[in-house]
Amino acid sequence: MRCDLCGRTVNYWAEDLAKVIDDPFHEAHVPPWGCGQCATIDYMSIRWHLPSAQELAAGLTVRRPVRQVVKWIWRDERV
Ligand SMILES: [Zn+2]
Repeated sequence: MRCDLCGRTVNYWAEDLAKVIDDPFHEAHVPPWGCGQCATIDYMSIRWHLPSAQELAAGLTVRRPVRQVVKWIWRDERV
């Protein structure tokens, strides 16, 4: 996935994206989230790439999911 605004590119394994995206009908050409630096999805593009053996041997950085974080959203209410 690449942000065309800041140029940041992040590699993911397709299997990981399929695991973390909740929507089973999410279209593969639509980026699932925005750029972490620019905080917008407007300039994101996603492209499928099968790394060559040479590329893998040279070392390829791939972002992998570590753990899911569930966050509570709070609001003030008058009682
Ligand atoms: Zn960006």
